[in-house]
Amino acid sequence: MIVMKFGGTSVQDAQAIDRAAAIVRERLAEQPVVVVSALSKITDQLLAMASAAGSGNREKALELSRAARERHFAAVTELLGVQAVPQLWAELETDFDALDDLLAGIVAVGELTLRTTDNIAGFGERVSSKIVATAFSQRGISAESVDSRQCIVTDANFTKAVPQFEETNARLAQIVAPLLESGRTPVMGGFIGSTREGVATTIGRGGSDFTAAIVGGGLNATRIEIWTDVDGMMTTDPGLCPEARRIKTISFEEAAELAYFGAKVLHPATLLPAIQKNIPVLVLNSRNPKNEGTRITAAAPRSKNIFRAIAAKKRITIVNVVATRMLMAHGFLKSIFEVFAAHRCPVDMVTTSEVSVSVTVDSNESIAAIAADLSKLADVEYVGRKAIVCLVGENIRSTPGIAAKVFSAVEDVTIHMISQGASEINISFVIDEADVPKVVSRLHQTFFSQTDPEVFA
Ligand code: ASP
Ligand code: MG
Repeated sequence: MIVMKFGGTSVQDAQAIDRAAAIVRERLAEQPVVVVSALSKITDQLLAMASAAGSGNREKALELSRAARERHFAAVTELLGVQAVPQLWAELETDFDALDDLLAGIVAVGELTLRTTDNIAGFGERVSSKIVATAFSQRGISAESVDSRQCIVTDANFTKAVPQFEETNARLAQIVAPLLESGRTPVMGGFIGSTREGVATTIGRGGSDFTAAIVGGGLNATRIEIWTDVDGMMTTDPGLCPEARRIKTISFEEAAELAYFGAKVLHPATLLPAIQKNIPVLVLNSRNPKNEGTRITAAAPRSKNIFRAIAAKKRITIVNVVATRMLMAHGFLKSIFEVFAAHRCPVDMVTTSEVSVSVTVDSNESIAAIAADLSKLADVEYVGRKAIVCLVGENIRSTPGIAAKVFSAVEDVTIHMISQGASEINISFVIDEADVPKVVSRLHQTFFSQTDPEVFA
């Protein structure tokens, strides 16, 4: 069997769902399980409804709900014709009425709990999976909508619930596998699950990729396809550098490094259940299905190019902590990081010297407050408008002289911090944001002017 996951933009409206049906139909011989996101932007809108209701704004909550209802019914009407499927129509009316009741209930109680948030957040996938299954059935696929809450068992850590793999795998074997065996195509919502007691949960924003990996891992898929709206992962942001090439194959570790430094296509950490079982994951474009996309595997084939990709992450602030006396004293680094932790501020890069520690963080409003807290420990300064440039590739491990090549390509550029070694597969450094286009295109020219045809398109 295979898993085919369609993200929000790949099911955003009737045309998109129609395209998805055509793509699935081509793969029926491989026994697909289909995992779908909510229609694009719907999860954001659901969370906005929940928060409006939580702050007592009944009108706003119900207005947003009405807009979402209309959008879903417009898609259904276009896909299936008016009243062509009265049963789906009635079910969706009931679902949206229940959503409105829930929102009104939140207003009445005057409190929005995480548990209720999850119940609302998962609504988009609950309805999209029903709509997609019905549309598929009308298009020659023997589709069967499966309620993911019956299959994906999680703990009760609402909004980022942790899947319980043993029970989930048992449920998948019990509920989903028999459908495949009888020639049906299960359609499940991503992102959602429920506790052992049956309380609805979600597994974190963007979680449908995770669902696809859980289902693929649980049912021993031969392949997982992540259908999105771009041709796959690129050697760099084509907006910065038009020469960017598609990456045909990449290792899981490389893809994870890239995601950490700003490549937005998908978050490979969520693919872990699949990668651990050696199941290849393909990133494919539902608007351009003939394109072969990017293949992510546990170990990627060797490339003649040193690097697989270059990422640039803008809006970075460097925080320098300078102490003359006690810096390397025992416990000092810990106390610095405790300040960042207390402000829930993740740190990307760290360098230290005898007298100073420099860290980078995403620019954000709390930096002044963080600096104020740090200044109780040492002298602090911070400077924004920086960017991290990150070159990723497994070949770094085995090729000498790489740093010299990288830095001679950008010898006229001011470099504020350098980091290599933590993962062994990335070299990163911090520059002024204004230098990003120049640096990225120069590095791309240096390292990708000739590309290994096995690895790059
Ligand atoms: N709909 C959910 C979200 O927007 C899950 C997903 O699309 O992956 O976060
Ligand atoms: Mg996503």
